[in-house]
Amino acid sequence: ESRQAARPEPGKMLPLVKNVIAVSSGKGGVGKSTVAANLAVALAKLGYKVGLLDADIFGPSMPKMFQVEDARPYAEQIDGRDLIIPIEKYGIKLLSIGFFVDPDQATLWRGGMASNALKQLIGDANWGELDYFILDTPPGTSDIHLTLVQTLAITGAVIVSTPQQVALADARKGINMYTNDKVNVPILGLIENMSWFTPAELPENKYYLFGREGAKQLAEDMNVPLLGQIPIVQSICENGDKGTPAALDETTITGRAFLELAENVV
Ligand code: ADP
Repeated sequence: ESRQAARPEPGKMLPLVKNVIAVSSGKGGVGKSTVAANLAVALAKLGYKVGLLDADIFGPSMPKMFQVEDARPYAEQIDGRDLIIPIEKYGIKLLSIGFFVDPDQATLWRGGMASNALKQLIGDANWGELDYFILDTPPGTSDIHLTLVQTLAITGAVIVSTPQQVALADARKGINMYTNDKVNVPILGLIENMSWFTPAELPENKYYLFGREGAKQLAEDMNVPLLGQIPIVQSICENGDKGTPAALDETTITGRAFLELAENVV
């Protein structure tokens, strides 16, 4: 497979999809899926038509984050084609590679298998009209990213990192993967997650557990926008596990933080 294959033209694969946004991180565990889920929910709350593809083949977490672990999407004949019908939750159309693999089995994909599965979830699914199609990509840089870049005309990538040096070093690699001249995907910006912690009993205090403003500096260094800083909040973690993303409730500080983030992305 040529690493130099050209990017497809906008609208070729999914002509009814206006914007495709890849959410990426260098490292795992920095909150990439949490950001992708909440960004999707926040965009839907802003009134946009949103689709979300969980392409994280190593650890698909959207079924749990949207509380649809038992969903088994089926195919339907539409205009003479068998198309997979995305699950709908919180006004979002959702497909996850996790719907098609046993969650307790390690996902050991043979070369090409995962790529083909993803191509089907993109091209053979009834996504319909979307303003934003969000892709939760695997951590790091991989052939899966290349597949996504070659399959869809990605509008831009959002990179998630904690302020920690090891995470930032990997985020830099992630940015370079998208901006190199073979791939050439614009970076919409960086999101700093787990920026600080504020204990309930000390509401004025911010503890910078992973370092201070590291992603802000990286954004300046690499000349990309900083789209938002999300603190460490217990409810973000709990909501993730409960299947009710924090962005659903804009009366909370975290809900508002994700809405602001979505406003910065549009
Ligand atoms: P990734 O997709 O990068 O592997 P996840 O989104 O799965 O990361 O997040 C890793 C863990 O951290 C999850 O348990 C998630 O609920 C939690 N988490 C993510 N962001 C935050 C945050 N801002 N505050 C608290 N917990 C968070």
